[in-house]
Amino acid sequence: MSIKLLAPQLANQIAAGEVVERPASVVKELIENSIDAGASRIDVDIERGGHKRIRLRDNGKGIAKDELELALSRHATSKISNLDDLESILSLGFRGEALASISSVSRLTLTSRPREQSEAWQAHCEGREMQVKLNPAAHPDGTTIDVADLFYNTPARRKFLRTEKTEFQHIEDVFKRIALSHPSITLNLTHNDKPVRRFPAVAQDNRSRRIAAVVGKKFIDNAIYTQVDYEGITLEAWLGNEQVLRSSSDCQFSFVNGRGMRDKLILHAIRQAYESAWGVIEQPAFVVFLSVSPRDVDVNVHPAKHEVRFQQSRLVHDFICKSVLDALIDTQGELGAGPVI
Ligand code: ADP
Ligand code: MG
Repeated sequence: MSIKLLAPQLANQIAAGEVVERPASVVKELIENSIDAGASRIDVDIERGGHKRIRLRDNGKGIAKDELELALSRHATSKISNLDDLESILSLGFRGEALASISSVSRLTLTSRPREQSEAWQAHCEGREMQVKLNPAAHPDGTTIDVADLFYNTPARRKFLRTEKTEFQHIEDVFKRIALSHPSITLNLTHNDKPVRRFPAVAQDNRSRRIAAVVGKKFIDNAIYTQVDYEGITLEAWLGNEQVLRSSSDCQFSFVNGRGMRDKLILHAIRQAYESAWGVIEQPAFVVFLSVSPRDVDVNVHPAKHEVRFQQSRLVHDFICKSVLDALIDTQGELGAGPVI
């Protein structure tokens, strides 16, 4: 067999396998794009767990008519232009892969109007088999992306979709993580036309109000708060006390430089602290924000950016563990009884 370049559609579909695992990954990519576009309000409407439709509307800076098609192409990004940018990345996106991937496995309509453009334009493509079609449209400032019939042309992928309920739970999880890290953005989520989550904007420095809205008032009322700085690393944490320990891990939220993570190192450090302080065996509940210099962390480990790699992972681990441990031990006296195990 001779070597051939993959056709662009096939290349995009292969990449989609990594970026677009399920409807929730589409929701994550689209919301992150809206945040990068400076939106202060994002509305997400889901039909049938995202199997049928995922629609997102934002009031961000929009995409100019002559860039609509480019936005849907692979490796097209407005966010980085050289390796140096990649090493100090602050935007959520940078791979220029999401829209190309999503549009290769769905029927995608992108409608947008930048503030300085007098009318809106719409691009439509079906699995990228056909050319992108551009039409004039009516739309306020900002962008709407409508993703219908996800995986309609990749039956092997479609087979792996779970029930509507399960897929929607994953979407809600993504939505909650983003809501926690971006308190100053108004975020609304509906499912089958019913409002499910409404998070009005709060001041960036009033994180606890957003946490109360997302995780629950009981959690925030009982949480132990700590903030620690050490050698350019900052940890801000709300730590569940024994009254809100859970049997599942659904209340464990960690963020690195504003990005939601399910990072093993962070989880391990926190669990170790709980175990040392309280001998806890159940799942602790926590909301933890870690800030490090972008140069000390590599976010380009996985296409979906779930994991990071720290330059000094041991240091980061021990810093988190010690900070959490100190906070738990400090408050033990105040809480009185300590853990009931
Ligand atoms: P990336 O986010 O990695 O740059 P994407 O494929 O997600 O790649 O998006 C491609 C480009 O399309 C972005 O760099 C951005 O310029 C533009 N874009 C995507 N979504 C939006 C949006 N909601 N508002 C404004 N511009 C957007
Ligand atoms: Mg993106």
